[in-house]
Amino acid sequence: MKEVYKNLHQQYQIANGELISTPFEFNLLKFSNKHNYPINKLNNTLRMLINNGVIELSNNYKKKSTVLFLATSNQVIHYAKNNTLTQLLVNTLLRSYGGLFEQETPINEYWLAKKIASTVPKTIQLLTQLHIDEIIDYKKASNTSELYFLVPREDAIAINRISKNCTRYIQQKKKKSEALIRFVENTDTCRNVQVLYYFNEQNAAECGVCDVCLSKKKKTENISTHITDLLSSKTYYTSKEICSHISFADEVVLVNLQHLLAEDIIAINQHNQYYLKK
Ligand SMILES: [Zn+2]
Repeated sequence: MKEVYKNLHQQYQIANGELISTPFEFNLLKFSNKHNYPINKLNNTLRMLINNGVIELSNNYKKKSTVLFLATSNQVIHYAKNNTLTQLLVNTLLRSYGGLFEQETPINEYWLAKKIASTVPKTIQLLTQLHIDEIIDYKKASNTSELYFLVPREDAIAINRISKNCTRYIQQKKKKSEALIRFVENTDTCRNVQVLYYFNEQNAAECGVCDVCLSKKKKTENISTHITDLLSSKTYYTSKEICSHISFADEVVLVNLQHLLAEDIIAINQHNQYYLKK
């Protein structure tokens, strides 16, 4: 983090003790490439600097370019008729994307360049020209944000001051990801129960619909004939006795009893004994 902090200031030639309040153009990708920082790690480091009020990054970068036609279709045709490539580009745009006259529509310069058998820079240049001539509103995607420094550069102490916070932040993140891994790996306990337990709610009921619950249901074998065979001897059995007579796990027997009750094949008397219904 100290290194990132230093390199950030160096990039904009900010001296120790100096604070410049105007924003700087910042490209995350370029910065990570230049210094060989893994993008994830850099992202986390910047996040910590932001959380601790050292810097601020505006999120005005756009992932996709957009196009909106400003001119009428007649004007567009008239405009493009003297330039074959522009014409081709305009036609390709109109054929490939719907709603270009109504709203800003995400487009892909790489794909367009391929379609008109041109290069990406040339395509971008044509789009930019269309924008300048007010035929379209072209907003190019960019990975740059605005970087603000909020406190004067102090290489020696700025990071030390926030290091405790950062350590805590990292520990929390680690804890969270460990909890997530446990959650994914635990296929014995209902997801609902796990999540509520995470939020300190104990004794939550199983939901019956999550992957864990469903796989449990699937695993429960159908042993209803075992039970009906046993009960066909015209005797009354408590669930405990049925379990002891049938060599399946008690859970399985109990689930099957529930099903048979629901299907009205068996019934239960006031002594909690099961019997076959005729
Ligand atoms: Zn569940």
